[in-house]
Amino acid sequence: MESFPGDDLSPRKVSYLKFLRERGDGARTGEIAERFSVDPSTVTRTVRELAASGYVFHQPYGGVTLTEKGIAHADFLIWRHRVLGLVLSHYGLAGEEACREAERFEAYVSAGAVRKICASLGHPTKGICGAICHDALCGADQGQISFDGVPK
Ligand SMILES: [Zn+2]
Ligand SMILES: [Zn+2]
Repeated sequence: MESFPGDDLSPRKVSYLKFLRERGDGARTGEIAERFSVDPSTVTRTVRELAASGYVFHQPYGGVTLTEKGIAHADFLIWRHRVLGLVLSHYGLAGEEACREAERFEAYVSAGAVRKICASLGHPTKGICGAICHDALCGADQGQISFDGVPK
């Protein structure tokens, strides 16, 4: 699979897309502002940029939902987050700490690099903060997927 065109999204946009995907049914700009403790006007500006790039629909009354492209991209972002979080957990960081630290740099790691890391981990299905899906994202064969995080 080719690298994702949104590989270079800013950390803020990455967090918003992941948040929307985890929420499932979208959110209001006010809720996003609250979740990330930022000014609603900042959220509105970022959401407008995401809408212009085709990742979200932005309703006039402030509702934000993911487009199909946004959903696919958010799945990629969550996969990247969980793979990188798992790596950190193998190097001394526990649970939430691994999640938090991964969030500090994950936006800068390319899809190609994560794919290699995922393969080297044996395509684990369990991340620290949820399941890790593979096929569409890293091109793993079913036979390569490990259920305990131990490489085959
Ligand atoms: Zn996490
Ligand atoms: Zn994988």
